[in-house]
Amino acid sequence: DLRKLGDDIAIIYGEFAMIQNKRFRYVPPSEEVVIEGNYENLHQLLIILMDNALKYTKDEGDIELSITSNKDKGIIRVSDNGVGIKEENLNKVFTRFFREDKARNRNNGGTGLGLSIAKWITDCHGGTISAQRRKEGGTIIEVQLPKENRNRNGKPKDME
Ligand code: ATP
Repeated sequence: DLRKLGDDIAIIYGEFAMIQNKRFRYVPPSEEVVIEGNYENLHQLLIILMDNALKYTKDEGDIELSITSNKDKGIIRVSDNGVGIKEENLNKVFTRFFREDKARNRNNGGTGLGLSIAKWITDCHGGTISAQRRKEGGTIIEVQLPKENRNRNGKPKDME
């Protein structure tokens, strides 16, 4: 259930954001969002996205984690009002060892591997991950994961 995952992450990052004087908002889904996947790996994926959101915002950092769903997909969105990613690099950031100049110049010791691991975890779940620029400045990373295709009795839904 992505709601349980979001709740767990929100507890951790609510604290981290407070320590760094940043604002953090969590928008949970209104009902459970069940996907077929590995909890530990998806937890790691969210840690990568949340760490980046904190790392690439300054003191007035505003970070939001939201989880929603549509008919087929669970949707995780992490947005921030930080330095942003250049338009031409929006796809490249998922490549191993890629770091933007702004990030390279910062003394935060990143390796450029985080988002490639996030993409790998997403791919393993049959999902998609993308980066967008916020109009107001900052970044949105969106992950879409296919919902579980089974009923409570274990039958695939398309066999109903
Ligand atoms: P690490 O591997 O330690 O996470 P990293 O943050 O450099 O290091 P990635 O997470 O792969 O590596 O991110 C790749 C690059 O994408 C970053 O160097 C940075 O330029 C850019 N980036 C990622 N997330 C954000 C964000 N939320 N805001 C702005 N730039 C970002």
